[in-house]
Amino acid sequence: MKQCPNCSSEKYIKAGIVSNRQRYKCKICNYYFTVDKVGKQIDDYYVNKALQLYLEGLTYREIERILGVSHVSVSNWVKKYGIKRPYSAKYHPTYKILNHNELQNYFLDTKNITGAGVLVTELGDKFMLIKWERFRD
Ligand SMILES: [Zn+2]
Repeated sequence: MKQCPNCSSEKYIKAGIVSNRQRYKCKICNYYFTVDKVGKQIDDYYVNKALQLYLEGLTYREIERILGVSHVSVSNWVKKYGIKRPYSAKYHPTYKILNHNELQNYFLDTKNITGAGVLVTELGDKFMLIKWERFRD
């Protein structure tokens, strides 16, 4: 590294982690590529993201599915940084992964964003939208 294996450009951005390998997207030719095992040196970006999602109420398995880092790593970070989340059975977070256009369309429709808390966080080259809904009795 560091250049795109398809066009040799040095302009690329992080685009998620796949099986503990950092994935990149070339800004010139849009080619996706990964580099060798990130292993123990997983970028702080994903540690922060994982802990953020954990605090929002997502489970280890859900975080694994979204970020591509193992649930064991996430559980270790939670312990390492002593993260505690308030227990609440009244709210349940749901989430969607959206690209920029889908995100815009989502917010154009007011019924999507009334009556529930909504948080948007950047996720690689996409966005994740987390929404809390109150359980109905
Ligand atoms: Zn390229």
